[in-house]
Amino acid sequence: MTTAPASAASSDSSGSPGALVGPFAARSDAFTAFHDARHWIGDRWCDPRSRRESLDVLNPRFGRSIAKVHLGGADDVDHAVAVAAAAQRAWAEQPIRERAHVMYRLRELMVADLDELSWLVSHENGKIFPEAKAEVEKAIECIEFGCALPNLAAGNQLEVSRGVACEVAYAPLGVVAGVTPFNFPLMVPMWMLPQALVGGNAFVLKPSERVPLSSMRIAEMLAQAGLPDGVFNIVQGDRTVVEAFCDHPQVKAVGFVGSTAVAKQVYGRAAGHGKRALCLGGAKNHLIVVPDADVELTAENIVASFTGCAGQRCMAASVLVAVGEVDHILDAVATRASQLRPGIEVGPVTTAAARDRIVGYIDAAEAEGVRVLVDGRGAAADEGGYWVGPTILDGCQPSMKAACEEIFGPVLSVVRVPTLDEAISIENSNPYGNASSVYTSSGDVARRVMERVEAGMCGVNIGVPVPREPFGFGGWNDSAFGAGNITGWDGYRFWTRQRKITSKWALQRDQTWMS
Ligand code: NAD
Repeated sequence: MTTAPASAASSDSSGSPGALVGPFAARSDAFTAFHDARHWIGDRWCDPRSRRESLDVLNPRFGRSIAKVHLGGADDVDHAVAVAAAAQRAWAEQPIRERAHVMYRLRELMVADLDELSWLVSHENGKIFPEAKAEVEKAIECIEFGCALPNLAAGNQLEVSRGVACEVAYAPLGVVAGVTPFNFPLMVPMWMLPQALVGGNAFVLKPSERVPLSSMRIAEMLAQAGLPDGVFNIVQGDRTVVEAFCDHPQVKAVGFVGSTAVAKQVYGRAAGHGKRALCLGGAKNHLIVVPDADVELTAENIVASFTGCAGQRCMAASVLVAVGEVDHILDAVATRASQLRPGIEVGPVTTAAARDRIVGYIDAAEAEGVRVLVDGRGAAADEGGYWVGPTILDGCQPSMKAACEEIFGPVLSVVRVPTLDEAISIENSNPYGNASSVYTSSGDVARRVMERVEAGMCGVNIGVPVPREPFGFGGWNDSAFGAGNITGWDGYRFWTRQRKITSKWALQRDQTWMS
């Protein structure tokens, strides 16, 4: 077991620009400490101005602290926003190609350090290394979209009348803010940064206080990639920081990803202050399985969907709606799921409280008469930490908590119904609307489901139907507050505003400007 000193940060908490945190040393699961998480403001690490609280950043595999995060307050938000505002104008005056070149260089730095970044994600979040690597690769894909923006962001121009031309240009909003969840420490910030920065904004990020470390590497890599001082900043903290973003008059837009209850609150508060807001929330994703589905493909896919990242994905399968006689498929799902080993193929869940909450759902379902087909309670790995193994609850009623609330763990609730119409109506009656999939070999069944489910991201024979770039990521109903998607072109539209310019140069005195 290797253990690097937690104080490596050693940093110079006075905020001198020289104190880089540098690469994360781990190249295995062995417990490894990292630098304490501080604010990154104006290209230097600094401590909170007045708040004196810190939290442990726990590696969920061990339940041990790998660093502290020093929580900020409204005064730190004021500081970061002032620095960002001072840097933003000059950044916006750079041509879009030059802004995009920073993304090119960031991409190269991330590709070169892919393993290092993946180990950092794995240690701070708990997900197993291959999942962490997939996260970093997806983050890189988001950056590639940012690199492409100069080729996409040309506005339209038209001669709308004799001698009169209208054109559209995309202008930055100014200083904008992003708030991200614990489950994708590196990828979710990259849902926002490329479009916001290439769009000419200055950005203030508040990562989840449970996973503040990956963002520190992003900050240093952006600086290395040539992003001017103050254009990207981090304020570490909790809801105090988020509320200060919502209330700050100079923050023009807030992007948020997290649970539904908080997404709704943040949306209301930011919009109440006249800001643009896009807040993605939680999920309860339904997979509909009909008897003609391919057994192997379906079983493999469903298990990957509900156990991947220990079920801590807003796109994870959560309810399997079994239509008619599909026991042959369910048996294959149960067999595969029971073979997965916690610690090797399935990572830990984020905290002890999360583990207890997930186990509480399983206990309650069992007490209501549900059969626990695969039981992950009591799962453990050698190192300690917070574990729940893959669990399948067969025979749930649609109204049971396990079938309608977000569990956010590796638990699949099976609801059995006789017809496809009933399956669709169960999916539709859930308030969330992130993802939904159908497993079938019938084009007709696939089409009927795809036309009727209440979800923004739908799959045919795919358990995690994430739209890859350049398609936009975003759900419906209680899974998203605000208009549009957070990635792809919608993301660029969200972080910019359209300026319409109408010009008349020709001297045509005989015509009015409308003619
Ligand atoms: P969370 O809502 O607890 O926290 C998200 C962020 O909000 C964090 O940065 C946190 O510090 C902040 N926050 C927490 N409470 C707050 C409050 N009362 N006011 C203001 N800010 C607050 O979510 P989490 O546990 O970090 O992440 C898991 C949740 O995120 C799940 O519900 C999951 O479905 C959802 N999620 C959704 C998507 C999506 O695209 N829809 C993607 C990833 C995660």
